[in-house]
Order: sequence, then C-alpha cells, then structure tokens
Amino acid sequence: MPANNIEQLKEFHWMLDMLQNIDVGLIVLNRENEVQVWNSFMENHSGINTNKAKDINLFKLFPDIPADWFQHKVESVFQLKTRAFSIWEQRPYIFRFKNYRPITGTAEYMYQNISVFPITSTKGEVDNICIIVYDVTDIATGSKALEAANQQLEYLSRTDRLTGLNNRGYWQERQEQEFARFQRYKRPSTLLIFDIDHFKKVNDTYGHQAGDEVIRKCASTLLGNARDIDVCGRYGGEEFVVLLENTNSDGALIFAERLRQSIEALVVPHTQHRIKFTVSLGLCQLDENVKSPQHWLELADQGLYQSKENGRNQTNLIVASK
Ligand code: GH3
Ligand code: MG
Ligand code: MG
Repeated sequence: MPANNIEQLKEFHWMLDMLQNIDVGLIVLNRENEVQVWNSFMENHSGINTNKAKDINLFKLFPDIPADWFQHKVESVFQLKTRAFSIWEQRPYIFRFKNYRPITGTAEYMYQNISVFPITSTKGEVDNICIIVYDVTDIATGSKALEAANQQLEYLSRTDRLTGLNNRGYWQERQEQEFARFQRYKRPSTLLIFDIDHFKKVNDTYGHQAGDEVIRKCASTLLGNARDIDVCGRYGGEEFVVLLENTNSDGALIFAERLRQSIEALVVPHTQHRIKFTVSLGLCQLDENVKSPQHWLELADQGLYQSKENGRNQTNLIVASK
C-alpha cells in the first residue's frame, strides 16, 4: 500500500473505532476494490470476519453483486469525487444478507440502502472509497405491506363480492373508455348483455342461497369462456355484461352462442336437487350510429329483450340504425 494511502487510513481510524459498533455496514475499498475496512455489522451479517475480508476484492467476497453496475457506481465516486447511492426500491439489496429481524420476519433478505462516498486525502486525492450499508428492512416491508393493502382496496372497489367479476361502476368506466377509443381508432368492439331466465323461480323454489350459487356458477362459466382481454361484469342481480374488445358481431355471436350452450349444459347441485337454467343474450357492435356508451348498452339490451320475447335461451343482435 502506498505511504499516503496508509496515512490516509490512519486519519480515518479514530472515526472507524466509533463506527465499528454502529448499526450500519461500513466498508472501505481501495482502487482495486480490495477491502480495507470491514466493520462489525459486515462481520455479523456476512459471517466473514475482518481478517478474512481484508485485502480481498469485494466482488470475490460477494459474487452475487451485479459487478458491472456496481463497478460503474464506484468508479464514478473515484473519478468525480461525488457520492453515489442505491435505494431499495431500485435494488432490494446489494449484499445478500438473511433478514433476522423478528418483526419483519416476512422478508427473506435484508433490504438495503447504500451510500458510497469518496475518502479524500489532505492532498485532495481519492484513493479509497467508503460504502455505507443501511438496513431498511422495516421501512421496505412496511411500505410493501401498505402497497399490498392499497392494491387489495383497489381490487375490492372494482370487484363484485358475490362473483368476483368487475362491478357495475368499474365495468361502466371500462365501457366508456372503449367507446372513446373507438372514436379514435375505429377498431371493432361488441357489447354483450345477458340475463338468467326465470330466475325468480330459482329463488322461489330453492331459496336465495341456491339463487346465489346459480349466479356464481354463471359468472365462473362466463370467465371460463372469455379471453383475458374481455371485460366481464355483473351489471345487476342476475344480469351480466361483457365488452368484447377487437371483436366484430360475427365473432361475438360465436362467443355468445358458445356461452349460452355452456350455461344450458350446467348442473348446479343443491341439497338433493339438480338445478338447471338458461340465459337470454343481446349483442350490439359499436359503430358510428351509436351515440353514447349509454346508447350502446340500450341497443344490446334491446337484443336481450328480443331474446326474452322470442322464447328465451337465445341470442339476438341489434345493429344501430342511422
Ligand atoms: P326473466 O326470464 O324475464 O329474466 O325472469 P326473471 O325471473 O329472471 O326476472 P328478473 O330478471 O326480473 O328477476 C330478477 C330476480 O333476481 C329478482 C331478484 O329477487 C333476484 N335477485 C337479484 N339479485 C339477486 C342476488 O344477488 N341473489 C339472488 N339469489 N337473487 C337475486
Ligand atoms: Mg332474469
Ligand atoms: Mg334481470
């Protein structure tokens, strides 16, 4: 080690004694990325004691560190003599340390913020850099829990409780978006609405709970038939809606008929009974004659009404007139 380097580290030593027991990781690297200082935090968490770490290349000690990325950071500290940082949101950790904190036992590894700064000699040269490792596991897991809770809330606010489909409010938002998109891109889109036939009879004969089960089964059959991009919703009691994006009325008719037949084939067991039921469906493809999202839904609903009038368990398509 050059003499000035040793001098420089000696200057640093009084501070190191103090930092030895602090609850952050502290590493000093020389230009060759060899460890010059390794405090007790690093010893305790890595299981590598100071004698073993001394003068060993950091990337040899931790082959998991993304070397190119970290090297680039370190190099900028040497060259520009400025600080560099890494935060847990970008990279959860640099040093793969197990998380032993009892409160945040959910995290497998310690989340870390890292700060790298130059150690400037009295001559203004930078021959060593210092890396500080902060354990931010508590903050990270707290923030992750909050994010998960927010996501759950967001999910609940747009989801129908009984069926897990989109609820009416959220589905309408999506329908409005699709209507707006059509004004710009003119890509085909078809709206499907359907309603369970003689559903009151199910409730009256088998009870409300059996009715609920029929609604759930109807929803899961819908999901089973739909593509991921189709936006399925429960519009009301036993009334369902689907936005078939990128689908013209021909494609939508095939989808609707397949769905109708799947539902017709269903058997919902209830106590010693086997409940069977059918649905009536209405379709409308979006075109220039459809005035508004509301109008679009009304047209599809006219198709549904025709299906009911004509004897139920069928699909009718409505084309918007000029
Ligand atoms: P149609 O073939 O003409 O559709 O006859 P229908 O008996 O199905 O008539 P309608 O669509 O008007 O019936 C809706 C019934 O659905 C009335 C209401 O009591 C019942 N219902 C609405 N929401 C729920 C629910 O969440 N669970 C149950 N079990 N029943 C519901
Ligand atoms: Mg009905
Ligand atoms: Mg109804």
